[in-house]
Amino acid sequence: DTLGANLDRAVAAWPDREALVDVPSGRRWTYAEFGAQVERLASALIASGIAKGDRVGIWAVNCPEWVFVQYATARIGAIMVNINPAYRTHEVEYVLKQSGVRLLVASLSHKTSDYRAMAEEVRGRCPELREVVYIGDPGWEALLARATPAPRHEELSCDDPINIQYTSGTTGFPKGATLSHHNILNNGYFVGELIAYSEQDRICIPVPFYHCFGMVMGNLAATSHGACMVIPAPSFDPAATLRAVQQERCTSLYGVPTMFIAELNLPDFATYDLSSLRTGIMAGSPCPVEVMKRVVAEMHMEQVSICYGMTETSPVSLQTRMDDDLEHRTGTVGRVLPHIEVKVVDPATGVTLPRGTAGELRTRGYSVMLGYWDEPEKTAEAIDQGRWMHTGDLAVMREDGYVEIVGRIKDMIIRGGENIYPREVEEFLYRHPKIADVQVVGVPHERYGEEVLACVIPRDGADPLTLEELRAYCDGQLAHYKVPSRLKILDSFPMTVSGKVRKIELRERYAAR
Ligand code: ATP
Ligand code: MG
Repeated sequence: DTLGANLDRAVAAWPDREALVDVPSGRRWTYAEFGAQVERLASALIASGIAKGDRVGIWAVNCPEWVFVQYATARIGAIMVNINPAYRTHEVEYVLKQSGVRLLVASLSHKTSDYRAMAEEVRGRCPELREVVYIGDPGWEALLARATPAPRHEELSCDDPINIQYTSGTTGFPKGATLSHHNILNNGYFVGELIAYSEQDRICIPVPFYHCFGMVMGNLAATSHGACMVIPAPSFDPAATLRAVQQERCTSLYGVPTMFIAELNLPDFATYDLSSLRTGIMAGSPCPVEVMKRVVAEMHMEQVSICYGMTETSPVSLQTRMDDDLEHRTGTVGRVLPHIEVKVVDPATGVTLPRGTAGELRTRGYSVMLGYWDEPEKTAEAIDQGRWMHTGDLAVMREDGYVEIVGRIKDMIIRGGENIYPREVEEFLYRHPKIADVQVVGVPHERYGEEVLACVIPRDGADPLTLEELRAYCDGQLAHYKVPSRLKILDSFPMTVSGKVRKIELRERYAAR
């Protein structure tokens, strides 16, 4: 199906059920109203000269208009380009030019970001950009007013590209994954299916729409099962999130592990009524066991699911099931989704490894992107002749088919010929009483090729940790080559907007001794 046809079905099946609620403004839409709003914007885009295949940029924090643009562009076969709301002029200019955006829809401003000022600064330098419309500005209403009653729609195919989604940029410059109706709609549908979404569900979405977590696992999972999308705030706010769950009686809550930690750590956490929750999704990075226990017990999310995926695969390829035990929900990222294949191979030879052995995870199926936008060489490096996507992640497939993520190949440290997985050293160091958070990276070393650097955020009030103390702690517990030979004490780590630590920046910053 196309997104438009899928939405039509939802409108026909559940016209009076709520589709979308914006908690900050109190605005709400039933499926019938939501469908009409999307149709009106689609018609307005056609009247504005946007045709099938044209790029429409969306550079905005979470708001209902984001969702309208998502469905309206897909309805007419235009290609929506999601732009990270944390971007500044230099990055926005790059994305606008690289993808050839003709119409840009942007927030006016949010917190310290003045999107209008930034967009006005770069628009003259982007020759293909013809129009910029700001949400909440009279220009937005003027755009909608161009809609005509019966616009002429072009013929669409499920395999048409409708979306360019940029990766998080955790390991370098973000890459634009080109995705079709078929890619992302199927993925949203199956992710929702595995947590048994129905028109009874109300999903609280505090994760950014610009990223696949929000717009696919959130919006597309919701509309393909008749569930309601609830926007708690324009950008992540732990208290606003829990307030929205309570007020809207949400049944499902999303987040990366650090968001759940922030919610659980609110001083007034116990005062929120979260009894309506039953499920939710945690994804993006590994979840600590203690956090998972509290999410299940104190947030009532007995059926919470862990997902693994990447932007290039629409995104999800592995997911835990609702009745999996705690060990599988923290030790693994679940089993493969329907109609997707996964294998674990020796990255050098491509030969499939026996279960229980670590190697590169590769995936194949409807979910694999069409390619990186306008970058055929990078596409050829990522997707091989057999259409397998090389994830760049190291994984182990257990006997029972559940997959453990060991880390990224790029993050693996090779010291004097020995392979070191940062995550293993990090998990060990987390237990040190003076360490609040830690990142382990490889830095160049004359003799060994690389050596192990521990970047530590100390616990509040703890006296500073020394390298000697750290080494003594590891002595006899970790193999000598894994023991850090350098230590940096930091206040914070460089992060992406999707909540991931940029190890590459730590490596570059501290390359020299
Ligand atoms: P870039 O590709 O630009 O360096 P990125 O890979 O972080 O950034 P995304 O597509 O947002 O961009 O993230 C996909 C990656 O996130 C996966 O390749 C994997 O390394 C990590 N990841 C996703 N889900 C999980 C999970 N449940 N547990 C551990 N790691 C995960
Ligand atoms: Mg990636």
